[in-house]
Amino acid sequence: MILVAAIKNTYVIKLGTSLITDIETNEIRIDTLNNITDQIARIKEKKNIVIVSSGAIGLGLKTLNLKKRPSLMPEKQAAAAIGQNKLMNLYEKLFNKRHITIAQVLITKDGISNKKGYVNAKNTINTLLKYDIIPIINENDTMATEEIQFGDNDNLAAYVAQIVDAEMLILLTDTDGLYTKDPTIHADAIKFEIIEEITTEVNISASKSNGLCSVGGMSSKIEAAKRALEQNIPVIIANGYGKDTIENIANGISCGTIFLPKKEE
Ligand code: GLU
Repeated sequence: MILVAAIKNTYVIKLGTSLITDIETNEIRIDTLNNITDQIARIKEKKNIVIVSSGAIGLGLKTLNLKKRPSLMPEKQAAAAIGQNKLMNLYEKLFNKRHITIAQVLITKDGISNKKGYVNAKNTINTLLKYDIIPIINENDTMATEEIQFGDNDNLAAYVAQIVDAEMLILLTDTDGLYTKDPTIHADAIKFEIIEEITTEVNISASKSNGLCSVGGMSSKIEAAKRALEQNIPVIIANGYGKDTIENIANGISCGTIFLPKKEE
């Protein structure tokens, strides 16, 4: 293993459940994942990549003979415990084909909220990056249930962006960005291209678009964006199904909705 200097800037890329499995059929979205890993392989020369991935619950459902996400928390946790293994096997195959090494990192918000846990997580992730390995991070769903309940890992991704001092937090989802209202119902919904301040209007739009995304909805993405912006980290909400979404972002081509930190005065 060659130790590379960690001089590259880091993208934290968060993949929501809807990009990993089809929520109706629970089938793995292999074409989407192949496309995403292809793009990551291509930009990896220029950027450190940290992935925050949901999908453990979705991948664990079949084994428990469940068609839908269970409503009881212990069942969700059991599904996640089964699915996390499958999730990592999936990533292992996808990235091995592209000669990229990955590592599993499981964290909880509580764990990284104390100094010791924060430093441990930071040291682990930064050392993996130094060895040119992509950390694939999920919540430890046995120990915590915050993201299962509210966020589909959006907030966790914001914490991770802070830990690695990311250049950018990219929240990949199943829509093109944040709209004034749900674009699947309202033809006159308008997409926000750039958000320089999270105003009441932005919050209301997010709550109107909440039905769009599989688990966390737009509100948890706005929460995550606020957290990252406080650390001066720009955030993009973009469509993970798009063929070139990640490469476009890396090449500075506008896509999705970008949230910019306040300029220093
Ligand atoms: N840790 C969860 C998972 O991987 C993410 C949150 C959720 O999907 O509810 O499935």
